Amino acid sequence: MSGSSRCEVVIISGPSGAGKSTVVRRLLETCPLPLQLSVSATTRSPRLGERDGVDYHFVSHEEFCRRRAAGEFLEWKEVFGRGHLYGTLRSETTAGLAAGKWVILEIDVEGALAVLEQHPEAITIFVDPGSLGELERRLRGRGTESEESIQRRLAVARREMARKDRYRYEVINDAVDRAVREICDILLSHAGEPDATVRPQPS
Ligand code: 5GP
Repeated sequence: MSGSSRCEVVIISGPSGAGKSTVVRRLLETCPLPLQLSVSATTRSPRLGERDGVDYHFVSHEEFCRRRAAGEFLEWKEVFGRGHLYGTLRSETTAGLAAGKWVILEIDVEGALAVLEQHPEAITIFVDPGSLGELERRLRGRGTESEESIQRRLAVARREMARKDRYRYEVINDAVDRAVREICDILLSHAGEPDATVRPQPS
């Protein structure tokens, strides 16, 4: 969108298995704004088909800790209590914004709240799987998770869904195309605003 002079930080969260990654990928392909995905760093191993530098920066535990000590993360978190570290690199947001991009952060609820402290103007969107039963079906359908991992992710999902009211927008992902259109429309409505920091107050 060449007419847009402003760029924003966009935080997209939702339980693991809610279809967030698919929604975000399609959003990047179809939404006519200059969107750029912030690629997080993680110490977990790549899943089948995941690429280093595209899906995540896959790093060793030592490398993650070294970069954390150097202050390179905007936020970081140990997810699922099993020692896997995830973090948003400051360089991803600063470089994206400097290049005139809308930077999309696909991170968990804790991470979102931490980023909001530093970017209070960020647009926050919660992608909701619809129901926990549907979420369980999707996690099992992936075929990549152990039973223990599924149970852990469902427990985290319950906690995350309980905090969705902290987000400005909630989008139900019962149909990917519709969810992507809805998110794109939300972003376009922000692009159309004369000043992102001044929102019209409800009368
Ligand atoms: P997955 O292992 O399924 O890719 O991601 C697990 C969880 O980690 C998801 O809820 C995802 O949103 C979250 N996550 C991914 N990257 C980051 C990050 O940089 N920071 C935080 N706080 N969470 C992240």
